Amino acid sequence: MTTARYRRIVLKLSGEALSGENGFGIEPGVIKSITQQVKEVAELGVEVAVVVGGGNIWRGKVGSEMGMDRANADYMGMLATVMNSLALQDSLENIGIPTRVQTSIEMRQVAEPYIRRKAIRHLEKKRVVIFAAGTGNPYFSTDTTAALRAAEIEADVILMAKNNVDGVYSDDPKVNEDAKKYDKVSYLEVLNEGLGVMDSTASSLCMDNDIDLLVFSITEEGNIKKAVMGENIGTIVRGK
Ligand code: UDP
Repeated sequence: MTTARYRRIVLKLSGEALSGENGFGIEPGVIKSITQQVKEVAELGVEVAVVVGGGNIWRGKVGSEMGMDRANADYMGMLATVMNSLALQDSLENIGIPTRVQTSIEMRQVAEPYIRRKAIRHLEKKRVVIFAAGTGNPYFSTDTTAALRAAEIEADVILMAKNNVDGVYSDDPKVNEDAKKYDKVSYLEVLNEGLGVMDSTASSLCMDNDIDLLVFSITEEGNIKKAVMGENIGTIVRGK
């Protein structure tokens, strides 16, 4: 029996969460700490889906600023998320957690295609499901992917793991020492005040579908479990 607050979660990891000090590439040692935390949560019986970004390898916007076609650059970003997903899968399976990767862009030799009902079945069988290749569409982000998949699989919450930030602030706490941390905030406030939580497409999707979001720091070990157990960490973002 699980004593966790949430039954089914979507864990959103940025690409940077998988990289070392310089924020680029994949660092197996860093991934280990995350997968250990995922293991703790999976062992509680919580169903875990993961959406991972690709910013540690490539961002479409940067490519387009360099003169590339935006859609092409975005497809490169989606492929970057597949690399990160495979690295996560490898690390999870190394510690005995059965994992499936599903991609929004078909690449059957590498992973399963995204099929909603199959993803739910895997979760029911307590397999960790990693959603790779974003939404499969350019001009979107992996934050939007997390919101979309959370709605589709009827997750109880999105756990948005941040590097070195422990919640939502009124301003950038690294720049403004008077910045105030919120315990709770609404999507409308996030949108109106331009709070740096997620992009507006993702925020709107969460707001319109009443998806709860918990923003917290993944840098401290054990925080994913604390978040799942409902301990008072981070900032909760709600529809109303
Ligand atoms: N991307 C996209 N469509 C999606 C998801 C992602 O085009 O549905 C591309 C986009 O170029 C983005 C890149 O993939 O910059 C990496 O994703 P993201 O920036 O969300 O990663 P994170 O910031 O979380 O590391």
